[in-house]
Amino acid sequence: MPDETTTDLNNPVTKYPKLSPPQQDQPEPGLDAKLEPRADLGEKSYQGSGRLAGRKALITGGDSGIGAAVAIAYAREGADVAIAYLPAEEEDARHVLEQIDAAGRTGVGLPGDLLDLDYRGRLVDDAVEALGGLDILVNNAGKQIFAEQLEDLDDDQVEQTFQVNIMAMFTLSRAALKHLPAGGAIINTTSIQAYEPSAHLLDYATTKAAINAFTKGLAEQLGPRGIRVNAVAPGPIWTPLQVSDGQPKERLPTFGHDVPLGRAGQPAELAAAYVFLASEDASYVLGETLNVNGGKASP
Ligand code: NAD
Ligand code: MG
Repeated sequence: MPDETTTDLNNPVTKYPKLSPPQQDQPEPGLDAKLEPRADLGEKSYQGSGRLAGRKALITGGDSGIGAAVAIAYAREGADVAIAYLPAEEEDARHVLEQIDAAGRTGVGLPGDLLDLDYRGRLVDDAVEALGGLDILVNNAGKQIFAEQLEDLDDDQVEQTFQVNIMAMFTLSRAALKHLPAGGAIINTTSIQAYEPSAHLLDYATTKAAINAFTKGLAEQLGPRGIRVNAVAPGPIWTPLQVSDGQPKERLPTFGHDVPLGRAGQPAELAAAYVFLASEDASYVLGETLNVNGGKASP
């Protein structure tokens, strides 16, 4: 969290402190409520200006980290927001739903496991029913469990990572097409890992490359229908994903130190990218991957 007395908001290097988080471990899925130090979801900083007035959005993984920052920003921009998350994340979800409520918008919690095909199959319809329509789908839920060697990475994990990270995008996007009007948007969360795979994140990185291809191909397909599909590729962002076996514990104290800005990003620093891609300001932007990564070179 930035200290208002010492933070220079104009300098991206010092806008947030360079974190050296203590080694810590949470069971998957991790909770923002237990993250040490806590991440900035934009609760104190994000200011809306009506850019998503009257829109209705579904955000998977909207309870914590990047998805939570996006949910808060969307509500402050005037959207009603449904968030999907695992039942174990109810505490984080409550915090985000309170923020949506405080913004004067409708917030809906839709807990469930995307590995459960029944839940996955009805999630979009449930969101539509609760919100009264759907204009924006943010496919943001992600699973990241490190494995140092291929021999440590069993097929069950590979299967689950693919199911949550990319297979669910096919199901949810297909279901959304029954509802998204012309002017609607789909935004997928990919990663710097799509271009620079870490040796210990083979399954995860492979899904993120697939998400880029999915995004570009679907954008071409849906462009003529007036539905824009884009992606955001975060770099190292301080979220519960990293402390629930997303990274080896010993890597946490230097997490994000290797980018040109020299620090990990905060979820709040991602929100504006997702707002832009959802908004009419991006009317001519399709099939784009917007990199928000502290300065790492990307294609
Ligand atoms: P996070 O842990 O806060 O969010 C991930 C969310 O995914 C969880 O909150 C959970 O609700 C959801 N999820 C995981 N497994 C699920 C399942 N089986 N069923 C339903 N939901 C499930 O972490 P985050 O870093 O904010 O992650 C959000 C997205 O950002 C992910 O797609 C992640 O891959 C991507 N990303 C993160 C980073 C980073 O450094 N944190 C970098 C690049 C990309
Ligand atoms: Mg979470």
